[in-house]
Amino acid sequence: YFVTPAQFEGDRVEITGDDARHITKVMRGRLGDKLIVSDGVSREAMVEIESLEAASVFAVVIESMEMRNEPRLQVTIAQSLPKGDKMETVIQKCTEIGAVSFAPFLSERTIVQYDAKKEGKRLERWRKIAKEAAEQAHRNRVPSVEQPLSWRNLLAAFSSYDAVCFCYEKEHGSQLRDVLKPFVEQALPESGSQACLLLVVGPEGGFTEEECRAAEDAGAVSVGLGRRILRCETAGMTALACALYESGEMG
Ligand code: SAM
Repeated sequence: YFVTPAQFEGDRVEITGDDARHITKVMRGRLGDKLIVSDGVSREAMVEIESLEAASVFAVVIESMEMRNEPRLQVTIAQSLPKGDKMETVIQKCTEIGAVSFAPFLSERTIVQYDAKKEGKRLERWRKIAKEAAEQAHRNRVPSVEQPLSWRNLLAAFSSYDAVCFCYEKEHGSQLRDVLKPFVEQALPESGSQACLLLVVGPEGGFTEEECRAAEDAGAVSVGLGRRILRCETAGMTALACALYESGEMG
């Protein structure tokens, strides 16, 4: 199994909550079984179960492991909330590919409503999907999923990234690759370096021209993803795969 995050204390680790229940009830874990666990931040290890109850499993570290499955290019997917369960698809697939966080947001043509007070369950579900996808992909970290932002707050957040690519199907000048190539060369010069990239994707009806201008004014570069129009849930994962390929972290 792969469980993340868990709490380490020296060479022992305690696994609680849903993970503990999953190990005891679903996987029918036994004393002496081996697990790979991560604290989701800086530590990952092969451990052996030494005691188990439904609410908590204690295990002892038998081998520390390197956390080397995270990309140096840290990509956040800002996705204008799509209809139905498409946000779940975005989170699941982009977590497998290697996104480090998700920033859903509301834009002019967003069709679905989001009432933060009533939608705690939805956010909880998105976070669970990110965790499960991270485990299946053997990520060392679970990507964060933020509460949906207003368009204005999304624009204000642009300044905390090294680069922001605004995916705009009407952009026939600069393409994603034209931006990524020089960005990666300049921002990731050697193996230890890291850089943060934000990919902004619109809703089913796309962005308005005003939104494109506002994004550029806030520091984004408007980019195309080729001649074909991708569905809103396909665009982010495509751009993410291209970005990680360009930074040498896909295949
Ligand atoms: N109507 C389809 C749907 O329901 O999903 C397509 C929607 S497309 C307008 C949604 C978003 O995907 C756009 O706002 C843009 O961010 C991104 N996108 C899709 N194709 C693109 C392309 N060729 N270049 C750049 N961005 C693209």
